[in-house]
Amino acid sequence: MPIADIFEKTEFSRNDIIQLLSVNGDDEKLLFKFAAKTKTESIGNTVYLRGLIELSNICSKDCMYCGIRKSNQDIKRYSLDVVEVLKAVQFAYDNKYGSIAIQSGEITSAAFVDKINTIILRSKEISNGEIGITLSCGEQSEETYRTWFESGAHRYLLRIESSTEELYYKIHPKDDTHNFQTRLNALKTLKKIGYQVGTGVMVGLPFQTIEHLADDLLFMKEFDVDMCGMGPYIEHKNTPLYQFKDSLMPLKDRFSLTMKMIAILRIMMKDINIVAATALQAIDKIGREKAIQVGANILMPNITPGKFRDSYALYENKPCTDENAEDCKSCIDVRVHLVNHKVGYSEWGDSLHFQKPI
Ligand code: SAH
Ligand code: SF4
Repeated sequence: MPIADIFEKTEFSRNDIIQLLSVNGDDEKLLFKFAAKTKTESIGNTVYLRGLIELSNICSKDCMYCGIRKSNQDIKRYSLDVVEVLKAVQFAYDNKYGSIAIQSGEITSAAFVDKINTIILRSKEISNGEIGITLSCGEQSEETYRTWFESGAHRYLLRIESSTEELYYKIHPKDDTHNFQTRLNALKTLKKIGYQVGTGVMVGLPFQTIEHLADDLLFMKEFDVDMCGMGPYIEHKNTPLYQFKDSLMPLKDRFSLTMKMIAILRIMMKDINIVAATALQAIDKIGREKAIQVGANILMPNITPGKFRDSYALYENKPCTDENAEDCKSCIDVRVHLVNHKVGYSEWGDSLHFQKPI
């Protein structure tokens, strides 16, 4: 079927999505153009910022793709203290970033839970209650999620990584700490508590097919997510999945497939927030800007103190690890304007999807 006919539909079938994920050449351009138009008409051309603070690379899990997995002995572990984090929060507030996002390896100790809680409370204090807070600290108990929510965090990013259980277990150890159902339940709990919930997947994983990716998009629609962060999988040499590196598609294909995923999701879910993932920039210097052009509307500039950035290496060739926040800030505005968008300074930029009355 001509892809213009697919665009006429109100709901995409699995086959429609598979066809759209397979386009290239003129049809790919058409897809990107339609996604851009959909975005402009539904949410406009404003990009919102979440100052990203990579709190700690200490992790209790062993995800087989991730450079900061517990079993990687070849990295220096760090954990920012509250004062360092609050300095970064102050920077975000002073520079009108609107929101911060705290990301971390997964730790569930009482000390960690308390630390995050203190960071949330103090961040609200120093910003007159104004700064928006997104968390991405993995799977936690319902009680912990609730505590953090009541203290002021209101968005949570937890990627499902793959919505196909079989693939999930090919990229995670099969044990109690890496359980597909637990991850899914965590997403449901977050939603029940009242968070704006974001999920996402990596694109271009070993063993992953176009069909898996189509199912991932259908999963997001079905789960009715408020936000999504999808990025290309980038192999890391100190991880078990590295052995499959020769079976992967070239980086530039993982990049363009991610762009298609973003574009299709934007058409399927017109008013959600979609992140232009940092991993895109690891492949293409203006990768995030390209993602904005085809449907993304959220940027997460890294405001982690410079000296720790090298150590938060989830994947290799991570961009900007040698910069400090000031360097990033100076180019954000220019970059966003280059793709005919504007930055929503001092605004939360919550998902319009979430705000809609049911
Ligand atoms: N520990 C938390 C948050 C930090 S990891 C969690 O796992 O939810 C954040 C994201 O980094 C993960 O969800 C994963 O999708 C992504 N990631 C990890 N390793 C990666 C790799 N090698 N390439 C691309 N993305 C990766
Ligand atoms: Fe830990 Fe998250 Fe990396 Fe898994 S993806 S090893 S939970 S930091």
